Amino acid sequence: MAELISIDEARHRVLEAVRPLTADTIPLAAALGRVLAEDVTSPIDVPPFDSSAMDGFAVAAGPGGEVDVIDEARAGHPARESVATGRAVRISTGAEIPEGAEAVVPMERAEPVPAQARAGHPGTRAAGAAETAGHAAHDRVHVPATEPGQNVRYAGEDIRAREVVLRTGAVLGPAELGVGASVGRAELRCSRRPQVALLLTGDELSPPGERLGPGRIYGSNGIALAAQVQRAGGELLLEQTVPDTAERTRTALAGVLDSADMVIVSGGVSVGPHDHVKDALRELGVEERLWGVRLRPGKPTWFGVRDRTLAFGLPGNPVSAMVTFQLFARPALAALQGADPAARRGVAVLDDGFPRNPRREEAVRVRLRAAEDGWHATSTGDQGSHMLTSMLGADALALIDPGAGEVPPGERVEVELL
Ligand code: AMP
Ligand code: MG
Repeated sequence: MAELISIDEARHRVLEAVRPLTADTIPLAAALGRVLAEDVTSPIDVPPFDSSAMDGFAVAAGPGGEVDVIDEARAGHPARESVATGRAVRISTGAEIPEGAEAVVPMERAEPVPAQARAGHPGTRAAGAAETAGHAAHDRVHVPATEPGQNVRYAGEDIRAREVVLRTGAVLGPAELGVGASVGRAELRCSRRPQVALLLTGDELSPPGERLGPGRIYGSNGIALAAQVQRAGGELLLEQTVPDTAERTRTALAGVLDSADMVIVSGGVSVGPHDHVKDALRELGVEERLWGVRLRPGKPTWFGVRDRTLAFGLPGNPVSAMVTFQLFARPALAALQGADPAARRGVAVLDDGFPRNPRREEAVRVRLRAAEDGWHATSTGDQGSHMLTSMLGADALALIDPGAGEVPPGERVEVELL
């Protein structure tokens, strides 16, 4: 570890090494969380036709008065008759506005006219199509005055034909998928999901569910990092626990460096006699791009590249592993998929004081709450790099600059949202 570099410099070196992955065309239903690899242009107006925003009566706009209800327009079943002065069509929300209609009078603003009150309309019945449509064709209602466009949703009000509605690099959430469907797309071109191999080093690791032998601990990095990988859009190619020998470390790495887009090794990356990860990676031709970050927790972080494969050696301490994943591997997974790797950063008022680390930037796990003067951050508790409970309920990492003394309560600090 020649000289420690800053978080930003480390992230820069990681992103510089990323070569975006190819793309596949996949069904909409399988695309949640994927990153779009095309601009989506709508071939149609949405809504595709002028439609009613209310249940009521479609009328020609003008002064109020009595009108004959001569047909019905339902969602999916347009009216056959057209509207003119004195003639209305009963209409449902989402139904196409009939020929000649300019406005919709909501149901509750139309007054039914009783049969005996219909002067000059002795038993008037609209004939033909209206009757076959199977509704009370002889209804007569009184409607108030209307302006053109009242309660009408015009074609293309949401999306115009030929408009670009989704852009390359968009992460597909529920709304993006819904918009894709609303313009008629059954499939979308998405970046391939990064294939990630996870190697957990440590002779002391036992899988949860087994009895703990002497000196052993339950491994937690496997499950936590795998979950982080999945949240970041990666796909787990393999998860394997590797004993602390040079040979086994090299064999395990050799087995995944060709097939994975990203290899993440936890533990064994430091300088102890039983830490074999860096040597193994170098021997296998992975070119070192960074070693050591001016960060707590997470100083012993290694990153290198072989061909298009990115390799991370993350510290074994559970909090360090999760924090360094968040700061360095997560942006790489985003960039591999063509998404914006920039983290969501903000500023928060620190509610409790915090001692500064003399040399390293500190990533303090904090809970956030909204207050009148913006976000406030409270530490989640003891911040040891082995205390995984400090990640429970954490909304963000507060990044505290190195220095002397302490950051007083009330100071504004930079936060990176988790
Ligand atoms: P190392 O980076 O290998 O020196 O490990 C640092 C610390 O993290 C040691 O206390 C390890 O026991 C612990 N550790 C390493 N891997 C894991 C893991 N998968 N789950 C929980 N703790 C781990
Ligand atoms: Mg170890």
